[in-house]
Amino acid sequence: MGSENPPLPYSNTPNQFTWSHAQRPENRMLQLFLKKDRDVPIRRGHPWIFSGAIERIDGDETEVGAADVFDNKKNWLARGLYNPKSQLRVRLLTWQKEAIDQSFFSRRLSQALAFRAVELTGSTNAYRLCNGEGDFLPGLIVDRYADYYVCQFFTAGMELFKDDIIAALSALTAPKGIFERSEGRVREEEGIEASVGTLTGEPPPELISIEENGHKFLVDVRRGQKTGFFLDQRDSRAFLATLARDRSVLNCFSYTGGFSVYAFAGGATEVVTFDSSHPALELAEKNLEINGFADRTGELIKGDAFAYLKEIEQTFDVIVLDPPSLAHKRADINAATGGYKFLNLHALKHLNPGGLLLTFSCSQHLSADLFQKVVFGAAIDAGRKVTIVKRLGHSIDHPVSLHHPEGEYLKGLALHALD
Ligand code: SAH
Repeated sequence: MGSENPPLPYSNTPNQFTWSHAQRPENRMLQLFLKKDRDVPIRRGHPWIFSGAIERIDGDETEVGAADVFDNKKNWLARGLYNPKSQLRVRLLTWQKEAIDQSFFSRRLSQALAFRAVELTGSTNAYRLCNGEGDFLPGLIVDRYADYYVCQFFTAGMELFKDDIIAALSALTAPKGIFERSEGRVREEEGIEASVGTLTGEPPPELISIEENGHKFLVDVRRGQKTGFFLDQRDSRAFLATLARDRSVLNCFSYTGGFSVYAFAGGATEVVTFDSSHPALELAEKNLEINGFADRTGELIKGDAFAYLKEIEQTFDVIVLDPPSLAHKRADINAATGGYKFLNLHALKHLNPGGLLLTFSCSQHLSADLFQKVVFGAAIDAGRKVTIVKRLGHSIDHPVSLHHPEGEYLKGLALHALD
C-alpha cells in the first residue's frame, strides 16, 4: 500500500481483501444527521441517540453497523454503532475520528484494565473489567472471575464486533477461557437472540472459585444471576464486616450469601440468609462452608422476602436489604416505590434499638433522591428515628461516566435506628 494513501480504518494485513460490516471503510460508513439543537447532548459527551433526534440518514439504514454522526449543519460530531431496530438508534463510542476495529477495542479495554489492575489486584481476582458506558464501550460488559472472563454483548452493534473484542481481550489478558452470557431484555429490544456459551479457550468449570478480600466464593457463571456474582456490592460487603461484631444479622435477598460470609467474618453472632432462589441458597451454603462458617449459628431460608419480613417475629441488630430491581422501566417507578417502601418499613420494624439497616435499590430508573424519600416514608410509618451513617454504592470497578449519569443504578443507605 503506497504511503500516499490515507490509512484505512481496517487492519491492512496482506490477505485481507474484503471487509465485514464492522470493518467497512469510512466512505461506506453510515452518515447520520441530527435535527437542529439535538447535537447539544452529543457535544457534551452523552453516548445515546434516540430515533426522534435523527433528521436524515445517508447509506443503508436497514443495516446494523458503524455510523458517523453530524449536526444539522453537517459538522462531524462523533462515531458510534447504529441499530435500526432499536429506539436507541446509536450508541456512541468515540468523539475522535478513529477507526472502530480491534485496535480501538484493545485501547479502550487496556485503559479499563490498567485502572483495575492498580486498584484491585491484591484484594480480589474477580472484578468488572468493562462496565459498558462507564468505560466508554456502551453495550459491553466484561467480568473477570479468576482465570476466566464472562462477556455480555447487549447490543447488535457490539455483537458485530465480537471477534475483534475477543481477540483484543485475549491478547491483553491471556485468560484460560472467555464465556458469553448475552441474554435478557436489552437484547430483545435490540432484536437479537440470546447467545450463551464458550467463545474461546477452555470452557469454565461448573463452579469457578474466586477470592475477594480474603474470602472464597464459588461462582456459577453458566446459570447464575447476572454473570454469576454481584461484583458491584464488594465495598458494601466489606463495610458490613466492619460493623457485624457481636450482632445478629439478617441477609435479605442474599443470593449466594456474599453479605453472610462477610458478616460472620466480621464477628456476627448469628446470620439468617434469605432468598427465593434455591440454587442461590445451595451455593450460599457452600460459600459459608468453604470459609469455615458452616457450624455457626444461623439458617438459610427460601421464601418470598415480602411475606417473610411482614410475618417474622424475630428481630435483628443488622438487616441487609438488597432486592432485585423493582423498576425495569420508567413506567414501573410508582409500583416500585410501593415495593421499596413496604420492604424498608417491615425491615425497620424488625430492627432492634440501635440497629443498622443496609438498604439498596439497583433500579436505574429510581433516583438516589427518590429512594431516600421512600426510605424516609418507611421510617415515619415504622415510627423510628433514623440517621444516615453512610451512603453506599457500587465498587470502583463499576465506574459511571459523568456524561451518562443514567449508568448510576446502585444506591444504598446505611441507616442507624435510634430506638
Ligand atoms: N445481595 C446479593 C445480591 C442480591 S440480588 C449479593 O450481594 O450477592 C437479588 C436477589 O433477590 C436474588 O438472589 C434473587 O434470587 C432474590 N429474590 C428475588 N425476588 C425475591 C423475593 N421475592 N424474595 C426473596 N428473594 C428474592
